[in-house]
Amino acid sequence: MKKTILFGISIVLLLWFSTSFSQNQKVVFAIHGGAGIIEKENISDELEKKYREKLNEAAAAGFEVLQAGGSGLSAVQAAIIILEDSPLFNAGRGSVFNYDGKIENDASVMNGKTLEAGAVAGIQNVKNPITAALAVLLHSPHVMLSGNGASNFFKQHDIEFIEPEWFYTERRFQSHIELKKQMNKKKSDGDGSDQKKKDNTTGHIPDTSNQYATKFGTVGAVALDLNGNLWAGTSTGGMTNKRYGRIGDSPVIGAGTYADNATCAVSCTGHGEYFIRLSVAHQIAAAMAYGKMPLAEAAHHIIHKKLEE
Ligand code: ASP
Repeated sequence: MKKTILFGISIVLLLWFSTSFSQNQKVVFAIHGGAGIIEKENISDELEKKYREKLNEAAAAGFEVLQAGGSGLSAVQAAIIILEDSPLFNAGRGSVFNYDGKIENDASVMNGKTLEAGAVAGIQNVKNPITAALAVLLHSPHVMLSGNGASNFFKQHDIEFIEPEWFYTERRFQSHIELKKQMNKKKSDGDGSDQKKKDNTTGHIPDTSNQYATKFGTVGAVALDLNGNLWAGTSTGGMTNKRYGRIGDSPVIGAGTYADNATCAVSCTGHGEYFIRLSVAHQIAAAMAYGKMPLAEAAHHIIHKKLEE
């Protein structure tokens, strides 16, 4: 349980940069590449190097935008696109498969100055879901789009679609097959209590398949730009073998993503059902606003006390 609700704290998966221009002007950029802890013995040196290089590339790209005076919006988008285009992460190209062997993406982005937000849920064949979420923020009066309506909207706004093969990664596919076998075995063994049956609906059963292929890789970024504005964005393929059009926390503003200039910018990663029930991202901001907690204390309180409970 503990490992599934971590907040991107693994050293391998979280990077941040900060520069001060003057006393009142500073830019900060942080990214994460998914929840959990990858044990050293479960990852080859070569693969670890690939993860580190890609995370560094994404963090540097976002940070450069900020240093050049660009907006937090552009920084978040630049970094997340790099991670979505990599097969390593559970977002865009490297997304996990759902129960039916399809890829469905969730993403969101939020502006901390205006509290405007854009999100997409369960979308298919969009190359960069973060760009689609951004289009919702910029070009629609709504916050979250899904289904055929969302596809029509994307076509009107030149969002790039790509063939399903783009998203195929062998290790994600193998995880999908292995987990499906486990799920079906559990069902046929008839050992499911009501709770276990419920968990089966999203594939959240103990999983002995390739650990990092199955559990890691949602991506997110937060930025403080030179204008003093905060931005947050998150993108994911969700959870392996999710069913029935399941939507996680990542596109839910207040659950997986939140930004408010008055407090903080948050991008979450972990088992989405828990983050939705607790409105984790917003609660961290609320603990700062109403509980007067500093950021680190607010995050610790909500994640390690409330969420773990
Ligand atoms: N939060 C994502 C979801 O539940 C998954 C993750 O962060 O690993 O869809």
